[in-house]
Amino acid sequence: MKIAFIIKNYDIAEPLGIMYISSLLKTKGYSTALFIASDKNWLNCLKNYSPDIVAYSAISGSHAEYLKINDQVKAEIETFSIFGGPHTTFFPETVYQENVDAICIGEGGYAMLELADSIEQGSDISGINNLWVKKDGTVIKNPVRPLVEDLNELPFPDRDLVYRKDNYLRDNKIKRFISNRGCPFTCTYCFNRAYKKIYKGNKIIRWRNVKNVIEEIREVKNRYPLEIVRFIDDIFILPPKKWLEEFKNLYKQEINLPFVCNLQVRLVTDEKIRLIKEAGCMSVYMAIESGNDRIRNELLERNMTKEEIVNAFDLVHKYNIPIGAENILGLPEGSFETDMETLQLNIKCKVDNAISTVFQPYPKTKLGEYTIEKGYFNGNFDLLSESYFIGSQLNCFSNKDQKKIENLHKFFGFTVNHPSFLPLIKILINMPPNKLFRLFHRLWDSYCKKRKIFNIKFTIKDYLSALLRVLRY
Ligand code: SF4
Repeated sequence: MKIAFIIKNYDIAEPLGIMYISSLLKTKGYSTALFIASDKNWLNCLKNYSPDIVAYSAISGSHAEYLKINDQVKAEIETFSIFGGPHTTFFPETVYQENVDAICIGEGGYAMLELADSIEQGSDISGINNLWVKKDGTVIKNPVRPLVEDLNELPFPDRDLVYRKDNYLRDNKIKRFISNRGCPFTCTYCFNRAYKKIYKGNKIIRWRNVKNVIEEIREVKNRYPLEIVRFIDDIFILPPKKWLEEFKNLYKQEINLPFVCNLQVRLVTDEKIRLIKEAGCMSVYMAIESGNDRIRNELLERNMTKEEIVNAFDLVHKYNIPIGAENILGLPEGSFETDMETLQLNIKCKVDNAISTVFQPYPKTKLGEYTIEKGYFNGNFDLLSESYFIGSQLNCFSNKDQKKIENLHKFFGFTVNHPSFLPLIKILINMPPNKLFRLFHRLWDSYCKKRKIFNIKFTIKDYLSALLRVLRY
């Protein structure tokens, strides 16, 4: 049994989702391989591999391209195709697309394993939980199985799958890890809220044992270049203080590398920040999203005051930890002026690496559905930008505001670091959006991340290859 994972191009970070699935499949002795559709000759290589299953993981906005890739594959090879990831979890109707044999909703590891077993044994695949499967001209819709309760039972992600193929990621000094899953909050624009509906009755928030996390990092450290650990959990400080204390001791003793993680304003306490600092935390990400109180609390349901945000940023800065902050521009019922409020709040919080995205109405999110209900978006998810750095699909802004928001996005991070340039930026953002502004944004963001967040010494070669990767992405 051979399973091919296909990704459309080289990325800036490891695709941990498919790496987890691959390692589970390998526990049963199945062969897995990664194919990158931007490689020359990739389709011939795939033909030579002759997979029984081809699998794709897509986010909304990239799904259309993946469907085209799958059409190419199906025209050349007789194989079973399955789509998973955030797009099909929240838009399972993707199964009705031509050439798609099944889609997967939610956590896909054990569903993929059962699918591989069933195909291998020639048994019926139509009743596998988590899957919607085409059968005799209809679609069989199965419920989801319970979430994996004990994350320690999962094998570590299959890094060989990716690093064998991608030297940049293999040699990258920063590598990504996950220590917990789930989030207790219910922000309206986030998949986590919709996820809770799908998995009602399940224990959503789960964390790995400290020893299990340390063991994975140690294994990676022994096999690949690793100088900075990047935890990509939604909120690293979610587990109780006891877990963080144990982590601090063991991590310092066994790993002793700087790490970067994500925080949430409402969970920041002096004690937790002290613990992560002592463990080796070198910088964090913490979202602001909007500087306008109504938008942040009524529309996004973030439920936090400006004062709470500023206090949380001050507290983290007190421990000399640089902060990157995520923000969303172009929100429905917002305007250029409310986006300027967001910029001002970032300046007040002294954000070290301010990141802004342009709002995308993702399927099944409360805010995505609200934009459709209000007529701000026509509901055609095929129109979504593949990247949330490109532009807005909402029709509630004037052309002039649309352009100004798009340009503000390009100068957002720079202006937060250099507020004295604001008068000049206010002139520039009235110009038509252009490639130069886009290039400036990428260069500044890349520089800022490397210097302020990861503070890593890069050779010119490292810097150029990182830059090329960012530009391609
Ligand atoms: S806190 Fe972050 S991860 Fe949690 S629901 Fe809100 S946006 Fe999503």
